[in-house]
Amino acid sequence: MIIAANFKTNHTRLSTKKYLDELISVKNSNQQIRVFPPSTALMECEISDNIKIGAQNAYPVKSGSFTGEIGLEQLGEFNINTILIGHSERREKLNESQEFIDKKFEFFKNEGFEIVYCIGEPLEIREKGLEAVIEYLKDEIENIDLDYDRLIVAYEPIWAIGTGVSATIEQINETHDKLREIIKAPLLYGGSVKSETLKDILTCKNVDGVLVGTASWKVEEFLKMINIADILEGESR
Ligand code: PEP
Repeated sequence: MIIAANFKTNHTRLSTKKYLDELISVKNSNQQIRVFPPSTALMECEISDNIKIGAQNAYPVKSGSFTGEIGLEQLGEFNINTILIGHSERREKLNESQEFIDKKFEFFKNEGFEIVYCIGEPLEIREKGLEAVIEYLKDEIENIDLDYDRLIVAYEPIWAIGTGVSATIEQINETHDKLREIIKAPLLYGGSVKSETLKDILTCKNVDGVLVGTASWKVEEFLKMINIADILEGESR
């Protein structure tokens, strides 16, 4: 399974290093672990066979005049080839348009990056029912190459992100089942995942992992989640 941590604008370079040192101490996990620290704390991408560091964001350019942004050259310094694209906080709070997100996807796809592509509906769409949700999500993937072999899709309902209110298991199941009909890439769920809810989420048929924000910021909690995923995988063998 893929277990990913999104630090957002949390952790310093020093605290990220401490976090990763503890994380590496989990030698025997079978999970594909991804950590997205803030760009000031980026470091060598591949820190062990199954733990990789990714960028939360970058500008779709090798280098140039884009004040405040980092590009391919800066990511290359740390051998970063994993990136989050389309996170709802960038869509909503930083006004990234779908057009720009499509462009970003294309750029990093052409550079061979592993892309964790986020999609998710606002509450008013969820309130209209599943059909409306799927239509909304389809618009977010319309121009994305779903056959890209390094694609991972994270379904993150906007109303569940950072709110402490996760989607219900029924909502996760029905949405992922529908998405699976059109997306063959691994499907992650994200939105207020905690260790207490993880087992039920990972047991959903079409959930291949989770993207965790708030609950991942404490390494003990993230390690607990990795352990739960390991136990679950052990049980299903
Ligand atoms: C996220 O930011 O991708 C996320 C899922 O956040 P949280 O776990 O805090 O809802």
